[in-house]
This record gives sequence, structure tokens and C-alpha cells, in this order.
Amino acid sequence: MHVNSPDQAPHKPLLSLVVPFYNESAAVACFFQRITPILAVLDTLDYEIVCINDGSADDTLAQLIAIADRDRRVRVIDLSRNFGKEAALTAGLNEALGDAVIPIDADLQDPPEVIPLLVEQWRNGYEVVLAKRANRDSDSYMKRKTAGMFYRLYNAVSDIKLPENVGDFRLVDRQVLDALKQLPENRRFMKGLFAWVGFKTVTVEYAREARSAGESKFSGWRLWNFALEGITSFSTVPLRWWTYFGSAISLFAFIYGLVIIFKTLIHGIDMPGYASILTVVLFLGGIQLIGIGVLGEYMGRTYLESKGRPIYLIRRRYQKTED
Ligand code: UDP
Ligand code: MG
Repeated sequence: MHVNSPDQAPHKPLLSLVVPFYNESAAVACFFQRITPILAVLDTLDYEIVCINDGSADDTLAQLIAIADRDRRVRVIDLSRNFGKEAALTAGLNEALGDAVIPIDADLQDPPEVIPLLVEQWRNGYEVVLAKRANRDSDSYMKRKTAGMFYRLYNAVSDIKLPENVGDFRLVDRQVLDALKQLPENRRFMKGLFAWVGFKTVTVEYAREARSAGESKFSGWRLWNFALEGITSFSTVPLRWWTYFGSAISLFAFIYGLVIIFKTLIHGIDMPGYASILTVVLFLGGIQLIGIGVLGEYMGRTYLESKGRPIYLIRRRYQKTED
């Protein structure tokens, strides 16, 4: 970090970029090539780049260490295994020393050219500057559609609304970061946590780019689980649905019971088919299992949370100490 002598101008604020890397061998070089000149232009700020190696199996770590060896502003945090993007991001946010912090993807899908705009708004006094994707043309049709559905469902069931088409790419002030660090949960749906803490927020728009190299680490299945995580982390509405659903079905059963009683009184006992009984039994059995499944989702999360395990483990930190 840059150290000023007492008679020099006051200390420049420090900007931290937090970048998670998971098997990004093909993207590392492009990332630094594109980001360094942009940061160099921001000469009223000092900066650091906190790189988190999230258990990459390729030579990502070696490449990062080589860069950190040349540039003292680049720090590398090597996690003990792949903990997932949310945990990697948490690690980076905890390690970052900046007065403002920007999480950014390694694949350049969050264009670094937006950074000066974020910083400008921060200087204007905003504590959170969101970078909103003006279009998602670089994403597939399916991804756009399912993302849209997720935001709608999430915002319908959760008290804290998520801004649509805003990822983790944003600037947060130190104050916000400190607030974020106070949230003790283990299972970290970062977007939700960011939204939960609040603070004075402004939005900047940008066009999302295609991946610079390599491929997305989020398959459809992983995204589905991510969406479940998000909803169960921030809403208990699905639990409540079952009360209403159960009540509706009970009411229906009660009315149907009355109908049968009156029919028997009027027409006498006849022999109804088993088919209808079996259908109702199976249907209700299925409904009950789904209800138990939803309970299980929440109970499982409570169970995991109750263990209080650390969110990530650091194997080693790399930083150049001398020039
Ligand atoms: N990433 C990570 N750990 C993981 C998966 C992804 O640190 O388990 C990082 C990845 O290296 C990238 C960022 O998270 O910097 C976003 O991943 P990706 O581009 O694959 O996601 P997408 O943009 O397709 O949503
Ligand atoms: Mg990406």
C-alpha cells in the first residue's frame, strides 16, 4: 500500500477490487491487461486487487502469484478448496482494506470501464453504487427468461426486494462493508445480504459483455439451487403457503363430507368405486410429502447454520512485501 509522509498531501482513499477466481486460467491475463490501465487513470485513489483463488484445479493460482510477485497492489488469498462464489466473495470482502470495495467477476463480464462511473457516484456521497445490466444480450435466451422469473418470484415472496438485473458488481462504502460483516450467516446469498443492509443507493447502467474466455461455472442445476438458496434465505413465505393450502384442502374435504352425508341420507347407502377414494388418498399423500419437503428445506438450512462452521478456510495469503 502507498504510504504518505506527513508533509505530503492527505492520504488517498483506497479502492479494493475483490475478484473471485475459479478455474479461470484462460481469463487471468486478459483481466489484468484490461483493468490495470483503467485503475491507473483513477489517480486520486490508491487501489488494491484482492484475488481469491476458490480452489482452482488449473494454473490460476500460479498465474495470480506471478502477478502478485510483480505488483504489490495485487494480493492473493488461496482458499483451501472450492467453497463456491458466495463464500469466495465473502473471503475477499473480509480481506479487503479499502475505503470502498468493488466485487467484480474475473471473466470481464462486468466491464472495468464502469469502475470510474461507480467511483464518481461514491464521491457524490452514495454509499452503494449498483451497476445494473441495461441488457443481457450476452446471456442465452433461457438464462434471461429464468433470471426474470427468479427476480419476479423472489420479489413476490421476500420483504427485502432485489433490484432486477443487478449482480454482485457494485461499489460499496467501508461503512456498508462493516455492516455486511456483522451478518453472521453461514450460507451467504450475497445479493440478498447486500440488499438487506440498505444504505444510500444509486444505480449506474452498463451493457453486460460476453465472457472473455473459459466457460460459465454455473450450470442450470447450480443456478436452480442458487435460486432456492436465495429464496429460502430471505423468505419464509413458502412455509406459510402450506398453512393456506392445507386449510383450503381441509375446507374442500369438509364440504365434500357434507355432500356425501346428505347424499346417503337421501339416497341411502350405495357402493362408491374405489377409484375416487384412491385418487383422493394419493393426491393428499403427495400434497403432504411436498409440504414435508418444504419444511425439510428450511430445517436442513437451520441445521447447517446451527453448526456454525466457518464460511471458508484460507490456505495461504500471497503479497509482495518489498520493492
Ligand atoms: N466463481 C468462483 N467459485 C465458483 C464459481 C465461480 O469463485 O465456485 C467465480 C468465477 O471465477 C467468476 C465469477 O465467480 O469470476 C462468476 O462466475 P461465472 O462467470 O462462471 O458465472 P456467470 O457469469 O456465468 O454467472
Ligand atoms: Mg461470468
